[in-house]
Amino acid sequence: MVYETVRDADPTVADALAGERRRQENTLAMIASENHVSEAVMAAQGSELTNNYAEGYPGERYYGGCEFADDVEIAAIERAKELWGAEHVNVQPHSGSQANMGVYLAVLDPGDKILSLDLTHGGHLSHGHPANFAGQTYEVEQYEVDPETGYVDYEGLREHAEAFDPDIIVSGYSAYPREVEWERIQEAADAVDAYHLADIAHITGLVAAGVHESPVGVADFVTGSTHKTIRAGRGGIIMCDEEYADDVDSAVFPGAQGGPAMHNVAGKAVGFKEALTPEFEAYARQTVANARALADQLHEHGFEIVSGGTDTHLVLVDLRPSHPDTTGGTAEDALERAGVVLNANTVPGETRSPFDPSGIRAGTPGLTTRGFDEAACREVADLIARVVDAPEDDATIEGVATRVDELTDEFPLYE
Ligand SMILES: *Cc1c(COP(=O)(O)O)cnc(C)c1O
Repeated sequence: MVYETVRDADPTVADALAGERRRQENTLAMIASENHVSEAVMAAQGSELTNNYAEGYPGERYYGGCEFADDVEIAAIERAKELWGAEHVNVQPHSGSQANMGVYLAVLDPGDKILSLDLTHGGHLSHGHPANFAGQTYEVEQYEVDPETGYVDYEGLREHAEAFDPDIIVSGYSAYPREVEWERIQEAADAVDAYHLADIAHITGLVAAGVHESPVGVADFVTGSTHKTIRAGRGGIIMCDEEYADDVDSAVFPGAQGGPAMHNVAGKAVGFKEALTPEFEAYARQTVANARALADQLHEHGFEIVSGGTDTHLVLVDLRPSHPDTTGGTAEDALERAGVVLNANTVPGETRSPFDPSGIRAGTPGLTTRGFDEAACREVADLIARVVDAPEDDATIEGVATRVDELTDEFPLYE
């Protein structure tokens, strides 16, 4: 691999890169936002395009020397249009958060009002948390999921919108396991004449593959991260109708960013091409089937699954009913020692702190990329249950770690 080139220049970083590669090979990456890109995507991201300055857009750059950058960006845009069916696409946002910033800058003024899902109910910092620029720039109120069902409270959202009169409603979430009903959110937005931003960061790949309903053509703006379920180069994307194209493009550059990270745009283009294949559609279907198997088997072990299951790539577990004395943080740490990497997560009706919440969130995009099927995911659920039932027991942790080693050997990451 290319990393060997680093060794002569910088042994410290070379050791860390080698360590990270081993870590990814030898553990189960179940952070729901993570995935394993192809070697082609990685190579594109490590290419000479990192040196290029391409401020502006294809055909309208501020500097010379952009003919190949243009080829790459046009390819990324054309493939994105084919994947998601949007009229206009901007592939320059450095991240999903930057994509959201681009939309806010395009249509909001400071002090305008955002209505978004509460972070502890599955929302995202970039939807207006006080610690984020959006929370500091705009007036934000939040809707919630129904505490009984775990589904978005669409009725409550509609009433909240009528009372608050927001300028934009944000949908699309970080820790929400169910299919989002874009039309119902659009109805609430229409009722109060607000824009609707659907942030599909987590489910870009599921939407592209037709495994989750698409908000394109429903919401005014659709944003996403390009490195989660879609498994392309790292960064963000904005999609909208032609009428908003100029506002969005100038909000991204020069509004929010300088030169685009063209090496990452190349990674997006390569990953989008891979996602246009029937193999990718099968991958997306398997990812959801695997998450369902994981949820089902965790439920068999007595875990409370938020919303009772999943329609997506992720499972949210509320540990309080089954393991009242085990926090999400304790579970996360014990699982990591056993080689299962997932994250502690807040759950609806959270009673602990966001720093050590009551739930864990587990995703199947990474496991599915390395070939896990439903049976393997059921076994992973068995392993998770063993650890969470005895998080302090070294023998249990060691036993699970041994089995994780076998599974990661059976499903190698990079040949
Ligand atoms: C991951 C995520 C983002 C932000 O993505 P970054 O690329 O990390 O900035 C935005 N919105 C949602 C809903 C996400 O899950």
